[in-house]
Order: sequence, then structure tokens, then C-alpha cells
Amino acid sequence: MSAPPASAASDAAEQLPRIRSALDRLVSYKQGESVRSPEGHTFPLSANESPYEPIPAVVQAIHEAALGINRYPDNSCTDLISEISARFAVPEDTIAVGCGSVGVSQMLLEAVAEPGGEVLYAWRSFEAYPILTRLSGATPVEVPLKDEAHDLDAMAAAITDRTRLIFICNPNNPTGTVISRSDIETFLDRVPADCLVVIDEAYIEYVHDDEAPDGLTLRPGRPNVVVLRTFSKAYGLAGLRIGFAVGHPTVVEALRKAFLPFSVNGVAQAAAIAALRSEEALIARVETTVKERERVHHALTEQGWRLSSSSANFLWLQLGDQALAFARHCAATGVAIRPFAGEGVRVSIGSPAENDAFLAASATFPTTPSHP
Ligand SMILES: *Cc1c(COP(=O)(O)O)cnc(C)c1O
Repeated sequence: MSAPPASAASDAAEQLPRIRSALDRLVSYKQGESVRSPEGHTFPLSANESPYEPIPAVVQAIHEAALGINRYPDNSCTDLISEISARFAVPEDTIAVGCGSVGVSQMLLEAVAEPGGEVLYAWRSFEAYPILTRLSGATPVEVPLKDEAHDLDAMAAAITDRTRLIFICNPNNPTGTVISRSDIETFLDRVPADCLVVIDEAYIEYVHDDEAPDGLTLRPGRPNVVVLRTFSKAYGLAGLRIGFAVGHPTVVEALRKAFLPFSVNGVAQAAAIAALRSEEALIARVETTVKERERVHHALTEQGWRLSSSSANFLWLQLGDQALAFARHCAATGVAIRPFAGEGVRVSIGSPAENDAFLAASATFPTTPSHP
């Protein structure tokens, strides 16, 4: 065996390519580690994915589209945009598709953010926001959550004439809280008309709270509101990377300019169309997940854990400095969850068997459950 080459970084004299300073404070997105029980079991509850295999109609569409992958995909996503337009009753020129809603978020930042500008969001929230903001060169402005939810008063007070974009994650990842229609409307009324507000509704299909708005109904009369949706969660297509935005045609035109050519592949487009056409079957699965969410929530309460209610396909346990130990304890039984050191853990709702594996782990955590 030959020795591995010495790290180039150790050679101080070597001249290296110049990297943008915006990347200095950026840590690359960390995916949950894969874990395995001593018996070889893995229960993946760390990424809020759908626990279900794709339905046959989607598999069929993927199979057919696969036969055409020697060709470039439709760069304009024409068929998918027409399908989304019909399904959500929004004009085609208000829809932009991207490589996951993370891809669409990046397009949004490419369209409006730049060095000197500020991007505002609640924290803790979706981990992609700080990464994409720093990549754009803009300055992140993070407003702490209040009781695990968006503090919209503090966010409104944090708006400056440099604020270019505001992310609102509703329901919030990782805490699962929702903002009511009246609260979000009051907030939107306080945002300057030239500042974009992106309402990220990655989990809207799991919301069963009558007070929570469908972001699309907030758009009329508010050209600065963009709604983000994804096929990764309720539609079960996380592996294919496809999502979309609905916004004012001027914003959508800018988004299409900021689109990385061909970054939404033809297999993903075909699968998304098939998923929209099979919505009944997918919604039935969402309902099962919502029932499981309530079952797991109840079981955790019985075990002595205190947690607030979640409107998404995950639960949030505020564990403070026990978060990492709790996640390690779960990992030892093959249950992968998402810890945030010093804060808490996010546990996705999976299949009933996966959820039972998690509940068995939480029941045997050696420390008495904390009551924050
Ligand atoms: C999972 C998630 C998404 C989805 O991202 P994709 O790129 O579409 O897979 C978007 N926003 C939030 C808040 C999420 O948790």
C-alpha cells in the first residue's frame, strides 16, 4: 500500500486558488449520519422524508422518462408548470420550478440578494437559509424564536432598508409551529413593498390547524409574497430534487433567469406530474402520517416528555444540553434522529414500526425526562 498523498494545505509555501471570503464562515450542509442497531436495523427518522415507496403510477412515469435520458430535459418544465397551474389554480407565469425548493430558494437569492443586502429569517429554522444567504454574499439576520415559534414583532422590527428577502418557514422546521393567518397578515402589512417575503410551505400538506393560512391565498394584492412548495415531503420525491415557487410574474421572470440550465431533470418532471395526478393516494398517506404524529406525541407525553404540538411530519423535543446524548441513545438502537446541540432533537414521523422503534428508545433513555 502506498502512503496517502500529503495534504496540500500543510504546505504553507504553496500558492492556492483564491476563495470568496463569503465562504469563510460557511459550514457545508451536514446530512444526518446513518446509524445501525447491533442487529443491523436502521430507522431513518432524521430527514422528514416520506416513509413510503413511490406509488405505482409514479414508478411507471419514472420508468418511461428514464428511456429518454439520453436527451436534455425540457428546460422550461412546460408540462409540469401547466399541471401545477391547473392543480393550484394559479397562472402559468406565476410558477417557477427548481432543483428542490432549496434550489428555488437559491434562485430567489440570486434574484434579489447581493453583498450589502440583508436576508432575514427566524432562528432556529431551516438550515439551508444561512448557507444560501452566505453563498449569495448577503448578510444573514437571524431573529430568535419565541416559545419555539416565529417572533413576528421582533422580525418586523429587524427590517432595515437593506433587507432584501425574508424567509418565513410555516410550519417551522425544526419546531413544527405554525403562524396564524391574522398574525402573518399583520406582519406582511409591515414589510416594505420592495422587500420579498418567501413563505416556505414544505410541510403544508400535514397542517390540520384551521388558523393556519394557505400561503397562496395571501398573494392577491401582495406582489412581494412568494410561496415555496416542494415535492420532497408529502409527494414522496425527495430523491428526485424538485420544487416550485408561486409569485408575481416579474419575480418569476427573474427566477427563470437565475435558473441553472437543465437542473430539473426529465425524470423528476415526469414523476412530479404523475404525483400531482395521483394526489388522492398521496393524501391518504399524509393522513396516516398525521395520525401517527398524534399517536407518537401522545405516547411521548405518557412517557413523561413535554413537547408542543407539531403541524408537520416531525416532532420537536426541547432537550437542552441532553440533545446529543438523547440522539446517541437512539442511534445505538438504530434510530436516526436530528439533534441540535444544546437545543433539542427533531424526530421525523415514519412508518408505525419506525415510530415504535423510536418510542422504545425514548422510553429507555437513562435520564429522567427533563421538563423544560
Ligand atoms: C425539507 C424542506 C424543504 C424541501 O427542500 P427540497 O429542496 O425541496 O427537498 C424546504 N424547506 C424546508 C423548511 C424543509 O424542511
